[in-house]
Parts: sequence; structure tokens; C-alpha cells
Amino acid sequence: MIHHQHDIVIIGAGLAGLRAALETSRVADTALLTKVYPSRSHSGGAQGGIAASLANESDDNWELHMFDTVKGSDYLGDQDAIEILVKEAPATVIELEHMGVPFSRNANGTIAQRRFGGHSRPRACYASDYTGHVILHTLYEQGVKQGVEVYSEFYVVSLIMNKGNCCGVVALDILSGELHLFHSKAVMFATGGYGRAYKITSNAHANTGDGLSIVYRVDIPIEDMEFVQFHPTGLYKHGILVTEGARGEGGYLLNKDGERFMKNYAPEKMELAPRDLTSRAMQTEMNEGRGIEGKDYIHIDLRHLGAAKILERLPQIHELALNFVGVDCTKEPIPIQPTAHYSMGGIPTDNHGQVVIDKDNTPVKGLYAAGECACVSVHGGNRLGTNSLLEATLFGQRAGEAMAELVQREKEFTPLPENPAQPAEKEIATILENEGKESVAQIREELQVSMTDNCGIFRDEKKLKKELEIVKSLQERYKHIHIDDKGMRCNTDLMEALELGHLLDFAEVIVAGALNRTESRGSHYRIDYPKRDDENWLKHTLAYRTDKGPRFDYKKVVITRYQPTERKY
Ligand SMILES: Cc1cc2nc3c(=O)[nH]c(=O)nc-3n(C[C@H](O)[C@H](O)[C@H](O)COP(=O)(O)OP(=O)(O)OC[C@H]3O[C@@H](n4cnc5c(N)ncnc54)[C@H](O)[C@@H]3O)c2cc1C
Repeated sequence: MIHHQHDIVIIGAGLAGLRAALETSRVADTALLTKVYPSRSHSGGAQGGIAASLANESDDNWELHMFDTVKGSDYLGDQDAIEILVKEAPATVIELEHMGVPFSRNANGTIAQRRFGGHSRPRACYASDYTGHVILHTLYEQGVKQGVEVYSEFYVVSLIMNKGNCCGVVALDILSGELHLFHSKAVMFATGGYGRAYKITSNAHANTGDGLSIVYRVDIPIEDMEFVQFHPTGLYKHGILVTEGARGEGGYLLNKDGERFMKNYAPEKMELAPRDLTSRAMQTEMNEGRGIEGKDYIHIDLRHLGAAKILERLPQIHELALNFVGVDCTKEPIPIQPTAHYSMGGIPTDNHGQVVIDKDNTPVKGLYAAGECACVSVHGGNRLGTNSLLEATLFGQRAGEAMAELVQREKEFTPLPENPAQPAEKEIATILENEGKESVAQIREELQVSMTDNCGIFRDEKKLKKELEIVKSLQERYKHIHIDDKGMRCNTDLMEALELGHLLDFAEVIVAGALNRTESRGSHYRIDYPKRDDENWLKHTLAYRTDKGPRFDYKKVVITRYQPTERKY
């Protein structure tokens, strides 16, 4: 076991982790741990844009952005947090620009902005369709310049707590297979989303929601896990994303009759309705036999935009469609289907990124989270496109500020408990020594397929109960896995087994939470309870781990400016 001491340990090198590290490393000794090389973090896959009411294309202001976000969240977003998000958005984007992010420009030199679903004004700042890629690389460059200490390809396995305070993590050096113990005054999770719990997903292979499960295992709740966003436009059979920017630029959604069917679901917003509504509309078309050739896909048609505009604004989409489905989108429509995309829920935090453990927002000393793994909650029941890059950067910065303040105030490290690495050592030894008959790949496949079938866009009691049984039986089978590679160097078998353990932990919370919430709100749609029920369910879910499955408690939604009303587009 190799020991390290750093004031601050940040896990994850996407936008949230990198932005936080830039803040903390100015004043404190910071270690940044990441299981994939920093510039391979999923933030780099973001295509469409980052929201800010810069008003470069039309009138706009933070209040309009706030109302759109609150309405988009189906009134489950906490309005104090949303107000911070939208008010600080312009400064966040301008800071990124000053760091060197090469945003696309208007002829007059201002940052170009395009339309996105659920936003009433064009406010997505973009760099053609490589927005996340350029922000990630710019932040990483800044980190290198500032000397942030990066432990690349270190896989965090467990969190170290002592009497309710957080004092470090245990990580596996993937290359050597050695375990490292990091003792710190503050730990921040910036471990991203969990799309890999589903078969059809836009998410990177690394998006296995490790952070959620690691905190859940030490008696910290996870919030609003039943809210899973399905993005309407994933490439058919692959789930790879076709950015909403494609519709922002004017793309049409067509059914088998060539009809722009969104007129029947959201006559005002059409293709730019929010994602929850658009995905349900597409799924309904397919369920009722109006998918292309009667199958489970729809077309997105960009041809009328013209080749020049497509190649300038959406070059990546052009290339992805060509490479993965063999379609030249300047000449033909692209086959698409909804794809698991984003997790609205996550590790509960206050507005400074500090993790809280109950409905009274009692903080956990030394523990922080930001970005997609966190639930502040600015997205409530449904996230609007382009608000996530914003959230990751802005709340990453805020968590960084809070940690910098903490470690300057606290002179001493919280002492380590006895045997701090024992849970990690035991978990790894069990996987390596197990000689069961079950295969990791097989269990993962069954989980992903059944989650897509039973806990997807449309849910009901029967399917959810069935899925809960499936997840529990897969958890049982997981105890009897074996892996072929028993070595320690670069053991990807071992990593995949650890990741599967995480997927199985929080998938149960997603399904049990969905079964528990007997209403429809945002991305969570129950066929058997099709109405939103503010009287009983205008509240956040907190799920705590017990041996029998999650125990639920609830937290009030913060409402400041906008009372819930019916949501129409
Ligand atoms: C295809 C795609 C397109 C998108 N487009 C947009 C868009 O246009 N606009 C928008 O606002 N949002 C978009 N999103 C959402 C947005 O990109 C993400 O929510 C956001 O980038 C998440 O950033 P993050 O810093 O929280 O995590 P990520 O960028 O996902 O980074 C997670 C980090 O955690 C590390 N990590 C995870 N587990 C461990 C572990 N056990 N040990 C060590 N390290 C670990 C990883 O190595 C990685 O560095 C898109 C998402 C996808 C998938």
C-alpha cells in the first residue's frame, strides 16, 4: 500500500473536476485522480453547446433562462440553485473564452449562439459540434500550466470515513495494480454519469456511475435516481448521439409517412420541445406503428439545411452518421432512436458542492461533489440541453472555492480510522479469488437490456416489479462471478467487475425509486400514473442503502420565484 497526503483529492477529470482543480491548486496541494486519461473524459463527447443568456442573437436575460430551466425541470429543480446557475452563466462562459476556448463566432465577433430544446431564446454557445471537446482540452491545458498533480489511470475503489467525516480515498493504479491510499482534508467526486446501466446509450464506456455507488456504500444517500434522461436522437442501434444542435439548426423529425409528427405533441416548440416530451413522442410514434418501415426508429432530416451549413455547424454529426450507419446526411435522413443520456439524480449537495446527508441538508465534513454525479438540484425531473456543461463548470468552480476555503481554515487532517483500506482490499481480493461460474459480461448485458426494456421511457408497476426482481437476481449471481485475468498489471477484467458491482448497486435504486414514485414528472413517466401529482410528490427522493434494498426519505423542493403550473409547450 502506497500512502499519499494531499490537502484535496478530486476524483474525475471532466469539466467539473478540472474546473475545481484550477480553483484549489492556486492555494492548496491538490491531487486529481482519474480512471481514464483526462482528455478522454465524457465531457469531451459533448457536442451541442453551453448555455448562457449572453443575448448575442436576440433579447435574453437570466430570468428567462431561469424560467425555462424551472419549467423544464417540471418544477422539481431547486430554484435557489437554478438562480445561481443562470445568473453566473455569462461570467462562466466568458471566463472559458478568456482561457482560450475557441467558440464559434458571429460576423461581428461575438460568440455565436443557437437554439436548443426547451430554451425560449437562442442561448447555446458552441464550437461547431465539438463544444465539450474544446472546453475539456482548454481546461486541461490550464491545469497543466498551473501544475495540477494528475494521477492518471487511477481507479478509485472506496471512500475513507471516520466518525462521519471524510478523510480520503483508496485507489488502484491501473497500470501496476498497486493500491494507493490518499489521506486528505477534502475529497470531491466529479465522476460523471451512468448511462452504461442501459443497452442503448450515448455515454462513454467509462460512465458506470462509480461515484454514486462508492458514497451509497458508506451510508450517504443518493437523490432523485429515478430521473433518467433519454435523449431523442441516438444513432439507430448504436445510441451514439446526434446533438440536439441538429434540431437547433433546423432539423426535422419525421415518421414513416414523412410527417413532422411533433406538431401533434408540441405544436409551438415542435422539434425543440424538451427532451422528455420529444422522446415520449418518438416512442409513441414507434409503438403505434409509425416508425420507419414500421420498425423502432425515426428519421432526422437535415437535407434542407444544405451541405455547406451541415459541414460548418455539424461536421461531427456528418462524420458519425457516415461511419456508423452509412448515411450521408447531406443527401439522406439519419435513422435515430431515443438513447439513455443523462442522470438528473446523484449525490446530494448544497449550493457550494458540499455533500449533505439528509432532508435537513446536514453537511458531511470534507466531502464534495459536482457535475453529473451530483444532484444540486438544478435539473429537477428533466435537464434542458446545454445546462449540464454549464453546471459542471460552474458548480465545479464553486466546490473548488469551498474546498480551498476549508483547507485553509482547517490546519489538521482528520485522523484515518483503523484499517482504512480494508473494504477496498477485500472487494478486490474477493473478485480475484472467486471461482464461480458467472461471467461479468453476461450479467452486464442482461442488466443493460432489461433496464432498457423495463425501466425506460414508459414505465409501469408490472415492468418495474419485474425489473427489480431481475436486478436482485443479478446481484445474487454477481457473488458467483469469476474473471480470467488473475494478474494485477492493467487488469481490465478486474475493473469491469468492479464497475459492474457499481452498476448493480445503483440500478436497484433507479428501479425501486421509479416504482415508488407513483406519478409522472419530467423524464419519469408512469403509464399507470400519467399525471403529475404535486400534492404527494413535489419532493426529492433520498435513497439510503440497507441490506434489504434502498430505504426512502424525502426532501423539500426549494421554490422561490415560480409556483408550479401545468407544463405545456
Ligand atoms: C454524447 C454526449 C453529448 C453531450 N452534449 C452535451 C452538450 O452539448 N451540452 C451539455 O450541456 N451537456 C452535454 N452532455 C452532458 C455533459 O457532457 C456531461 O453531463 C458533463 O460533461 C459531465 O461532466 P463531469 O465533469 O461531471 O463528468 P465526465 O466528463 O463524465 O468525467 C468523469 C470523470 O470521472 C472519472 N472517474 C469516474 N469514475 C472514476 C473512478 N472510479 N475512479 C477515478 N476516476 C473516475 C473519469 O475518469 C472522468 O475523468 C453530453 C453528454 C454526452 C454523453
